[in-house]
Formats: sequence, C-alpha cells, structure tokens
Amino acid sequence: MKVVILGGGVTGLTTAWNLLKKGYEVVVIEGEESVGGLAGGFREERWDWALERTYHHIFANDKEVIALAKEIGFDGLHFKRPKTASLMKVGDNYRIFPVDSPIDFLLLPQLSPFSKLRAGATLAFLKTAPFLPFFEKTTSVKFIKKTMGEEVWKNLWEQLFRKKFGKYAEYILASFMWARIKKRTPVLGYPDNGFQYFCTFFSEKLKEKGCVVEVGTRVMGVDRRGSGFAILVSKKTGEQLEINADKIVSTLPFPITLHVGKKMLPQKYIYQQSKREYLWAVNLILGGSEKILKDTYWLNVGAKEIPIMGIIQHTNFVSRSHYGGEEICYCAWYVEGDSDLLKKSGEEIASSIFPYLQKINPSLRKPLRVIRLFKAPFAQPICDREFLKIERGFETPIKNFFVANLDMTYPFDRGTNYAVKLGNDVSQMV
Ligand SMILES: Cc1cc2nc3c(=O)[nH]c(=O)nc-3n(C[C@H](O)[C@H](O)[C@H](O)COP(=O)(O)OP(=O)(O)OC[C@H]3O[C@@H](n4cnc5c(N)ncnc54)[C@H](O)[C@@H]3O)c2cc1C
Repeated sequence: MKVVILGGGVTGLTTAWNLLKKGYEVVVIEGEESVGGLAGGFREERWDWALERTYHHIFANDKEVIALAKEIGFDGLHFKRPKTASLMKVGDNYRIFPVDSPIDFLLLPQLSPFSKLRAGATLAFLKTAPFLPFFEKTTSVKFIKKTMGEEVWKNLWEQLFRKKFGKYAEYILASFMWARIKKRTPVLGYPDNGFQYFCTFFSEKLKEKGCVVEVGTRVMGVDRRGSGFAILVSKKTGEQLEINADKIVSTLPFPITLHVGKKMLPQKYIYQQSKREYLWAVNLILGGSEKILKDTYWLNVGAKEIPIMGIIQHTNFVSRSHYGGEEICYCAWYVEGDSDLLKKSGEEIASSIFPYLQKINPSLRKPLRVIRLFKAPFAQPICDREFLKIERGFETPIKNFFVANLDMTYPFDRGTNYAVKLGNDVSQMV
C-alpha cells in the first residue's frame, strides 16, 4: 500500500514518519529544494547555523514536538527565558515594557489600578480555564472590553489586534485569545543549528526508514486512476511525470489542495472550503553590528504610529556567534493580498521603517543589512464565525484522499507543535 504525502513541511514529515512505522510505502513530494515549509530556513556561508525565514521558537509545553524530537533521536532542543515586551507611547516617548509576568502588568503606567486588577484576573482565568463553548460565541474584542474594560482594550490590545488581523480584528473569536494565553510559556525552546537543520535531520531519518523524499518537485494536479490516484508533478528541470498512489495525504494549504485536486473534488466541497480567509506573513530580516533591541527578544509594537507589527531580535535569544557575529532582527507584518508591502523590495521596506526603528532605539545607526525578505501566502487563517461553519475534518468526499494543514489546528494558532499533532492524528485516520 503506497501513501503519497503532498508537502514536506512538519505536518507532511510527521505523517510520513507515522505511516512508515505502520509499514506503508511512503513518498513525500515537496515543491521547494528543501523540506521544512514555513519552518524552513537558509544559511549564509559564514554562518554555522541556519536561520528561519520567519522567526521561530517552541513553547516549553509543546509536548508533541518535544516528544517527536526525542523519538527521532534529535537531542538538540534547548530552552531559555528571553525577554518579551510591548512598545507603548508614553507622552512623546516610546517605551518598552516587559509583559512576561502578571507583575509586569501591574507596572504598566497607562492603566488605572482597577484596570490592572481586571486585566490580571482575566488573564489568570484564561490561563487556567478549559476550552469553553462560550469562547466561540463572542469575539476577542467584546470579551476583552467586557472582562478587562475599555481602558485595557485601548492601551494594551487594540493595536496588537489591528496590526495582526487588519480589517478582521473585530471578528476574531475569543477562542483564539483563550488559546494564545493558555498556551504561551515564558520559557522558549530552539533547536541547535536551527529549525531547518531539525527538518533536514527528520527527513534523513525518514529516508533511513525507506521513505522517498522528492524535493524540488511541484504537485500540479491529482486525479483518480483506477482504485487509486495519479499525481502529476513538475520537476525544477521542467520535466513532468506521474506518480501513482493508493492513498494521498495533502498537507498543502487548502487553496492549493483545492486547485490541484479540482478535477476530482466535488464542486460543493471546493466551494465550501474556498470560503476561508487568510493573511500573508511578511518578514524582513535585518543584520548589523548593533542590535535594534538592546535586551528584548520579542517586542509587540503596541504604538499606533509605528507601522510594524512585531520586532524580534533573534540574537537576544540565540547567540550571534552562530551567524558570524552579526546581530539579526526580524521585522514582521501580516497583510492582505493587495497590500503595498507585498510590492516592495527589502531595501525599500528597510529604508521606510528605519526612522521608526530609530525612535525605538535612538542610538541605532545605518547601514542595516537586508538579509532577506520573506513573503508567505496563507500564513494566518482568520478564525471568525464564518471559519467555524467550514468543515475541518481530515477526510474529503474522495475516499483515501485526506487533508491536514494549518487551518485545522484551531482553536490553537498554527505552530510546529500542532503540525506534529496533525501528522500524528491524520496518520491514525489513514
Ligand atoms: C510568520 C510565522 C511565524 C511562525 N512562528 C512559529 C513559531 O515561532 N513557532 C512555531 O512552532 N511555529 C511557528 N509558525 C508556524 C509553523 O511554521 C507552521 O505551523 C508549520 O511549519 C506548518 O507546517 P505544515 O507542514 O502544516 O505546513 P507548511 O510548512 O506550509 O508545509 C506545506 C509544504 O507544502 C509545500 N508545497 C506547497 N505547494 C506545493 C506544491 N504545489 N507541490 C509540492 N509542495 C508544495 C510547501 O513548500 C511546504 O513545504 C509560524 C508561521 C508563520 C507564518
């Protein structure tokens, strides 16, 4: 029995691992030159370690990915507690406030003591409460205003929601907020040599077990052939060929799965699944001899005037010695498909945001090196009421054609931990 997995991200690799253990013949087809998908990275010549195209870490309670690392013999996961903070405008100045612990909230200057108490109590409730159906009946905005109050919404959350979700900010379900607070740990983990190394290591383990991993091979179409399937693929060389399968697990984003499967998937299914909305992720990676953030790893930009969503000083988490001594920082956005940001080059974005970075760190000097600009479609699914109405099962109307992708980690936000969980769960179904 041959199972072909479409996509060599963490979900695809984990699905392959589980199916190999069950004795299936398994082939993974990946369009890029290396496995890893959204968690993948690159390495410059003078670096010892690879760097993710988008910032990545795991939480201390990400038990699925930690268990998988152990199972495949990867012993390079290390944990530490870097600083997380929010940028706020106080008077005419921008200030960085730590938001690592409930005590930090008590020190925020913009909030009255009563608001601090309400915010602290609500966060403690979200941290301890199980998932409640109520969280799907209201939006995050309504929930925050009702429990923490208008003042906390305005000063603490509004910009974070607007910058992360744009026009969808008002519609994001409270279940999203519950999952984010519930899951966050101040202690974060990172694999030695980077996430790309981890994924490549994983792929080598798969090959040792007899799995075929075809990289640089793009899936163009899938159709039924007899009792199984024929998959049309295109190699980087332009060569096209057909791969046969008895069963398929597609871990491609839904819009791509629907496109490649359009000949066989019923119109009704395509119509329903196409209703999902997504944002693009844009990450600009900047390097330099100086840090943009002195000692903070993760900065939520809560100040409206600064047109950046998040600034992640990677080298306040992972030593710069792995990157030839250079300080590395991500500037991050989520945007709609028609955003101007998607039309700009890394250099254009870097020069437009430099004056704002200087407001955050007045001693910052040019030049900053544009290391890479990464733009990813389908990166952030929109979890609103419409999203809940769409079927999220692994099975499709086509027997033996399964789907597993980051839209299915709800109520938890996409993450490598949930990619591993998806791979574990879908392989049970297969
Ligand atoms: C900005 C951002 C930050 C993130 N930060 C974190 C973090 O800090 N920690 C964390 O754990 N997770 C993080 N994640 C999420 C994490 O990267 C993903 O949840 C996880 O990697 C998803 O894995 P996947 O295999 O489901 O999907 P993907 O990684 O998207 O894998 C799908 C694969 O399919 C391939 N593919 C697409 N089309 C075709 C085709 N036609 N033919 C063949 N192959 C194709 C793609 O190249 C890709 O490799 C982040 C994601 C983003 C966008």
